[in-house]
Amino acid sequence: MMARIGVMTSGGDAQGMNAAVRAIVRSGIHSGAEVFAIKEGWAGAIAGQDHIVQLGWSDVSGILNKGGTVIGTARSLEFMTREGQLQAVANLIANGIDRLIVIGGDGSLTGSRQLCLSWSDYVEQLLSEGRITSDQAAAHPALHIAGIVGSIDNDMVGTDMTIGTDSALHRITEAIDAISSTAESHRRTFIIEVMGRRCGYLALMSAIAGGADYTFLPESPPRDGWEERMIDVLARGRAAGRRDSIIMVAEGAADRSGQPITATTIAQVLRERAGEEARITILGHVQRGGTPSAYDRWMATACGVEAVRRVLEAEPGSEPVLVGVHRDAVHTTPLVQAVEDTHRIAGLVADAEYQAAVEARGHGFTTMIDVYRMLIEAEPSVRPTPGARRIAIMHAGALAPGMNQLARVAVRSGLDRGYTMLAVRGGVPGLIAGDVDEVTWSDVEGMANTGGAAFGTRRFVPAESDLYQMARTIEQHNIDALLVMGGFHAYATVDMMERERRRYQAFDIPIALLPASIDNNLPGWPMAVGADTALNTVVDSIDMVRMSASASKRAFVVETMGRQCGFLPLVGGIAGGAEKAYLPETGLSLAELSTDVEALVDAFESGRTFYLAVMGEEASEHYTSDVVAKLFEAEGRGLYSVRQAVIGHVQQGGTPSPFDRINATRLAYQAVVNLDGQLKTGRSDYVAASSAAPTLLAPLRTVTDAMDWDNQRPHEQWWLRLRSVFDQLSRRPGQE
Ligand code: ATP
Ligand code: MG
Repeated sequence: MMARIGVMTSGGDAQGMNAAVRAIVRSGIHSGAEVFAIKEGWAGAIAGQDHIVQLGWSDVSGILNKGGTVIGTARSLEFMTREGQLQAVANLIANGIDRLIVIGGDGSLTGSRQLCLSWSDYVEQLLSEGRITSDQAAAHPALHIAGIVGSIDNDMVGTDMTIGTDSALHRITEAIDAISSTAESHRRTFIIEVMGRRCGYLALMSAIAGGADYTFLPESPPRDGWEERMIDVLARGRAAGRRDSIIMVAEGAADRSGQPITATTIAQVLRERAGEEARITILGHVQRGGTPSAYDRWMATACGVEAVRRVLEAEPGSEPVLVGVHRDAVHTTPLVQAVEDTHRIAGLVADAEYQAAVEARGHGFTTMIDVYRMLIEAEPSVRPTPGARRIAIMHAGALAPGMNQLARVAVRSGLDRGYTMLAVRGGVPGLIAGDVDEVTWSDVEGMANTGGAAFGTRRFVPAESDLYQMARTIEQHNIDALLVMGGFHAYATVDMMERERRRYQAFDIPIALLPASIDNNLPGWPMAVGADTALNTVVDSIDMVRMSASASKRAFVVETMGRQCGFLPLVGGIAGGAEKAYLPETGLSLAELSTDVEALVDAFESGRTFYLAVMGEEASEHYTSDVVAKLFEAEGRGLYSVRQAVIGHVQQGGTPSPFDRINATRLAYQAVVNLDGQLKTGRSDYVAASSAAPTLLAPLRTVTDAMDWDNQRPHEQWWLRLRSVFDQLSRRPGQE
């Protein structure tokens, strides 16, 4: 008999659950299994009948961009009882299902684990009660479970991100950005309440991303006297010229004695102690709504494919697993461990063991709390000293959304450590021309959520003859350390400076290099700042193209940017649900095109109404998107029409996504920590962002050695592993 996989969504809904369901159905079919939806979570498993239905390939068409979950979700009290679980087992067995993928929060996964553990007991009981046959009992000796965390709270141990969290951050930062523009014009204080009963991830990260002024988290309750401190921070911010104040509060925030701190409490404090009327916005279900972000789509898709592989490979005795992500790769851990660790942290928060709870959330979380505390201040925590050492920051290469957040965090982190901060204006040409000036704390106010690059950037690699002037600028402005943030041109420039540093003594200073590029073509760091924003732009464009085509039979060829790197077309294609992606890494051949055209014509002949190919701008010198569109048109002979859509430079613009803002914050902060350490110990190393290094920075050489300079991309690219994910989802088996 064919293997049968059940898939359910359970607990609160989250954006991106549909992407996982789609991936599970299609990948299951690809692997020769039958996939059944168990509708309405555990309640559906107990109800059985029409709650358990087989899903075919096209049943999951067109759901990728929908929020919520098309197979329904519920909370079920009945499932908490033995009789409920027994009935669920009876229904699963009646449908021949003993492999189950559960997409839900900690509660749902706890329930799954229990069912796994008690499965054989239940089978025995059902057999003795005559509710199943001995053949059925023998055929299903064990339940194989893979859990995928779908929850906007990001409160699960065992995965860096849970499905829905990134989309929720999109909704929250959109709200903060919108509110801060009105707050600014009226000099108002806003209090925004976000979800998170025991986990402050959303509140903390959205405060960092949105540039909020004060935050209350469940894991880090304020010490007594917080009322005065908050009023003081807000007042100092106003005195320093800030017009608006935004306070973020997680729904589970409380003080040290466990007394809840709600938006109302905070408003009352502001009214009584500062005579200020604050406006309250409770975001509530808005955070769960809307279309899923690019990240939630591709990540959920990759996890879904892996979960199918795991449940199909499982044998009696296999541990149930949690499929999640770690450092942008799909990552599996034992479900039992993940559930226990998660409950342990929740227990720590409940028992007021806050320090331990924060530490248990990992080093990254702890650091972000520190960074956040520094960023919200109205001024540096140390007085500038005369003769302070000087750190310059410079962008280089093409514009990338998030460059401003990099600059903002770098400037404040440097000032907060007592450095004089300088900005090189206009990228490397600015360094050659000596266009350098001092920047202050308030100069970078409000830069968290803006696109573009306030300090300017240029695509420019210096010639050897420029090096002398660059060295002169460094000497004349007494630059003691340099932070370079940008794309390929930044990497090429710093690499050149390193090679020439023996000839120019001025280059003998600590230099840190951070990736910022929509192309995501830089070694050492999985996601360059700006790449996630561009990806979201690609996905939004694909969604719009899809809608525009809904009235007729149409094929689209969408062209993305990305130069010699196929990140945007491939990952954008996965997140946008494309049928085909053409990448510069693999190029295009006439043979491939003619196979694709055949499949395309065949698809429309068998009733399809839409076909989407995504193509990198430099996928092929000859077969451009224009040529491919014409080829599709010619071969269709009127069966469908073809449109070409070049997304273009909007990919470089736009407000940076929350992911890019957070990524930029982490990188810029760690780079300044590194330069500070070097200056204090008299070193002058060149370092670059590296996810392999615990401090996030590694010697430049070890990073740039991974660069394929001719093709302007890394030799090894992690996201190319997603190619097989793409192939499984885009074509029905049997279709070439
Ligand atoms: P979220 O917290 O993101 O909303 P969740 O999955 O944690 O999602 P819960 O309401 O905690 O949401 O759990 C969903 C369902 O999972 C419950 O209604 C119940 O059927 C089942 N469940 C939860 N905890 C257990 C448990 N300890 N034992 C058995 N079943 C459980
Ligand atoms: Mg939960």
